[in-house]
Amino acid sequence: MVTNASGTEYEYGSCPCAGAYASRFIEVEMEVSGRNVVVSAIPQGECPQCSSQVYKLQVIERLETLMRPE
Ligand SMILES: [Zn+2]
Repeated sequence: MVTNASGTEYEYGSCPCAGAYASRFIEVEMEVSGRNVVVSAIPQGECPQCSSQVYKLQVIERLETLMRPE
């Protein structure tokens, strides 16, 4: 099962290290009720300087909805 998280692009602003977060999309595989679910197009910000990663609150809420057993 493959679910698309949204594919929306967000602004992430600046990292505490003074780098600027780059907008990208990742794919995550997780287990939901014993089934493997691949969630693609998860928006993520990554700092090219220190590799710290950030997610938007809306994205985390969306993932929590997807992980909830039906
Ligand atoms: Zn950084």
